[in-house]
Amino acid sequence: MLDKLGLARPGQQMGQRWPIGCVALEITQRCNLDCTLCYLSENSEAVKDIPLDVVLARVDRIYRSYGKNTDVQVTGGEPTLRKSDELLAIVRRIHALGMRATLMTNGICATRALLEELVAAGLSDVAFHVDTTQQRRGYETEAELDTLRQRYLDRAAGLPLSVMFNTTVHDGNFDQIPSVVAFFRSRAGQVRTASFQLQADIGRGVRRRRGPGITPDTAAVQIEQGAGTSIQFAASLIGHPSCSRYSMCLAANGNLYDAFDNLHFVSTMQKATAAVVFDRTRPLATAGRLALWLGRHPILWPRVISWLLRKGWEMRKDLVASRGHVRTLSFVIHNFMDGRRLEEDRIAACAFKVVTDDGPVSMCLHNARRDTFILRPIRLHRTTLPLFWDPVRGVETTEFIEPARTDVDASQRGRQKSRSRNKAPQPANV
Ligand code: SF4
Repeated sequence: MLDKLGLARPGQQMGQRWPIGCVALEITQRCNLDCTLCYLSENSEAVKDIPLDVVLARVDRIYRSYGKNTDVQVTGGEPTLRKSDELLAIVRRIHALGMRATLMTNGICATRALLEELVAAGLSDVAFHVDTTQQRRGYETEAELDTLRQRYLDRAAGLPLSVMFNTTVHDGNFDQIPSVVAFFRSRAGQVRTASFQLQADIGRGVRRRRGPGITPDTAAVQIEQGAGTSIQFAASLIGHPSCSRYSMCLAANGNLYDAFDNLHFVSTMQKATAAVVFDRTRPLATAGRLALWLGRHPILWPRVISWLLRKGWEMRKDLVASRGHVRTLSFVIHNFMDGRRLEEDRIAACAFKVVTDDGPVSMCLHNARRDTFILRPIRLHRTTLPLFWDPVRGVETTEFIEPARTDVDASQRGRQKSRSRNKAPQPANV
């Protein structure tokens, strides 16, 4: 598909390093926050958690579709609201199939004890979502939320986990993005990836379409301001260039240096190392594996040595000050589409999918038509009899349920959220 769209270019990761960027596995539609840019639907709270065996069957489906080393986002709603023994079973299945599980959480229920259990079950990454769309009481600005970001970092400290932070970039915090990046810069190594999602007109959130000032380019400038360096976001592609931007910096002594400033070197090395498995939870082992691999590819030595010398010279003062300690900090900009303005070629080249009963679907498409997916009865393949899971009543039934259901009665919606509930700051349940 990328070929047909003219996107199979040097530097393209999709189809070269991995078949898909990641696949979201929604294990609940419930959430304990009510963000102003929530991609869930008004009906999400009416939907009961799908049975565990259905979730596990979807994990198997991801494996059949994309294979080992696929990144699976365990998400929702808020996945930590699922019974912990079921959450553990889900992570165990993902790990057992040789895929990488990431817990996508707002952190409220992601206690140290739970993270330890999840790591023992095979969790690779945790992605904390912290920003001002969440309206947490007592945190008016992004800078004030640094206290919370630090608290979550402390909860994951010392665990073999790669930590990511997700930040929504919206009209209300665009000017504060440099300060968010400055926090991540000061914690480079503890934080491996900082992902920025641009405001989109989707879901039940009270905030809608973003202003003209927020684009992937302007977001990149805000990130560079906080990083204190220019960053090349065109060297490494993740699917469609209008969808995502990705780059990586080297960090030493609190300063960042762009590792991707040579496009040709990045695309050459990315292609050459396509079969090398990068284990984010074990950076030293991965560095060792890469060195061994490089030892077997002398043809690349001149280019690698010249890159190392150039970076080493650029970073010389900070390398001395940090006694040679270098970490990495990656940046992702994700440009979700508005629900009513989906672009066909981007959907076709989508690198971020959601697994459904029909298989993986583009995340933008899924969010735009969420109710048709979450309210649909699920065929249970436990018996030869036609048996269904009714997601609204939360029961198994042989009774026929209208498959095209796109709405539920307000009384079935449970707690009102977002637009259907007048906004007041969230209770401080951090
Ligand atoms: S189609 Fe949407 S979800 Fe898929 S990669 Fe593009 S912006 Fe992301």
